Amino acid sequence: MSNRQSKTDVILIGAGIMSATLGTLLKELVPDWKITVFEKLASAGEESSNEWNNAGTGHAALCELNYTVEKPDGSIDVSKALKINEEYQVSKQFWSYLVNSNLIRNPHEFIMPLPHLSLVQGEQNVSFLKKRFEALSNNPLFQGMEFSDNPQKLKEWIPLIMDGRDSNEPIAATRIESGTDVNFGSLTRMLFDHLQSKNVDVRYKHSVEDISRTNDGLWDLKVINVESGLVEHHQAKFVFIGGGGGSLPLLQKTGIPEGKHIGGFPVSGLFMVCKNPEVVAQHHAKVYGKAKVGAPPMSVPHLDTRFIENQKSLLFGPFAGFSPKFLKTGSLFDLLGSVKPDNVFTMLAAGAKNVPLTKYLIQQVMLSKEQRMEELREFIPNAKSEDWDTVVAGQRVQVIKDTAAGKGTLQFGTEVISAADGSVAALLGASPGASTAVSVMLEVIKRCFPQELAAWEPKIKEMIPSYGLSLLQHPELIEEIHTSTGRALGLTNELALV
Ligand SMILES: Cc1cc2nc3c(=O)[nH]c(=O)nc-3n(C[C@H](O)[C@H](O)[C@H](O)COP(=O)(O)OP(=O)(O)OC[C@H]3O[C@@H](n4cnc5c(N)ncnc54)[C@H](O)[C@@H]3O)c2cc1C
Repeated sequence: MSNRQSKTDVILIGAGIMSATLGTLLKELVPDWKITVFEKLASAGEESSNEWNNAGTGHAALCELNYTVEKPDGSIDVSKALKINEEYQVSKQFWSYLVNSNLIRNPHEFIMPLPHLSLVQGEQNVSFLKKRFEALSNNPLFQGMEFSDNPQKLKEWIPLIMDGRDSNEPIAATRIESGTDVNFGSLTRMLFDHLQSKNVDVRYKHSVEDISRTNDGLWDLKVINVESGLVEHHQAKFVFIGGGGGSLPLLQKTGIPEGKHIGGFPVSGLFMVCKNPEVVAQHHAKVYGKAKVGAPPMSVPHLDTRFIENQKSLLFGPFAGFSPKFLKTGSLFDLLGSVKPDNVFTMLAAGAKNVPLTKYLIQQVMLSKEQRMEELREFIPNAKSEDWDTVVAGQRVQVIKDTAAGKGTLQFGTEVISAADGSVAALLGASPGASTAVSVMLEVIKRCFPQELAAWEPKIKEMIPSYGLSLLQHPELIEEIHTSTGRALGLTNELALV
């Protein structure tokens, strides 16, 4: 068969962390299946999964306040935080399996231990944080969480943030040692190197333009070789659409009923980055604040130590903004092009409901560097403009769909959309994102390969010992997982002091 036409078992669209994870899981489960990957860019992990395009937080709800909501009766709903934490334990177990099996090496090139803190100011916020601490700190998943409203203690924890702070407002923080910084770009590249070593056919600079069903039930992909301009056709029994922001248009092309009445709302992002070693040395943590009133959850400000290319830097942001592009490398017509007869009313309803959000995002785009520095100074009072540069982050396309809450409701999570026969699945949305890639891809496997699941279960359990078990109902497993993943991934306290 010519290079411009092929038949394979599995096609993965996009070389981001999601396809990398699904491909790696499938290669372990069924090594002899033929897998082909099409990526329109020149290498893996160049869009949202790239280290400079996301914040690299190993999301385990240790510090992200938007995962614990205060209920009208004043109590704290921790259900989302528990779910995300459990999902992160699944990711860590899978990564540990890969390291222990020598399928990937040098875990410190993609994961580093880093304390996670939440920081709030003002009486009401301090009271919320205290209640959140009380609701979580006795849970074994959040073991070791500390709370302090003593400025002296906070100065020990976060000197850069406390220096020059002269407000008399109450201030408080929680801190937990067991947080992580993850370089998802590096991990994605490692996984693709591994996949290529296992004969997965990864074709960079190949853009998938159309997907249609053949008479014999396969999916036919029209692919353009970006360099030569030549059109190719490739067929597979199963297709995963892991195009990040580019997934929605591809899902629409499949024509599956499950993909109808869904829209996308693109949110752009900017970070401020500091590489001045003197400043960088004064901070060693991820510190999450509270989103401003009217701001979307993905613009919760945070100040993070990052470990990228063996260098420490600080990242502050993200400043969410509006751009009609679905990918950082996308087109200004992406949003308009995604409006179809089946989702036009959903999109219009979302547009009408989200005027204040859109206005907020447009205002954010218009901020000058000095205005952004002012926001940064709420975190680091003595921050100097010359120490900070602006970097453009990845695009997040939030799902819009009709729910019980009404037509055109904006969703802030990740969603797997799959055909009833399991022959195609797409991943939409971007939060909590890369951290939960393993759980999300296991969900794809569960939905799309139900007949194989029983036979695959022993291998899944070998890779992820807690698979199928609730950690909350098996607290004895938590300690075991912390120890074994800590050892495999190098997440020990000695490393935390580096
Ligand atoms: C500002 C920001 C901050 C974030 N912070 C965090 C964080 O701290 N922690 C966390 O866990 N997650 C975070 N995320 C989310 C996380 O980055 C994403 O969930 C994750 O990277 C998505 O991976 P993906 O593989 O789905 O998409 P991507 O990494 O975007 O990969 C999709 C790939 O598909 C390719 N593609 C698209 N269309 C086509 C096509 N038609 N043909 C061929 N190839 C195509 C693209 O070029 C791209 O390489 C953040 C995201 C953003 C934007």
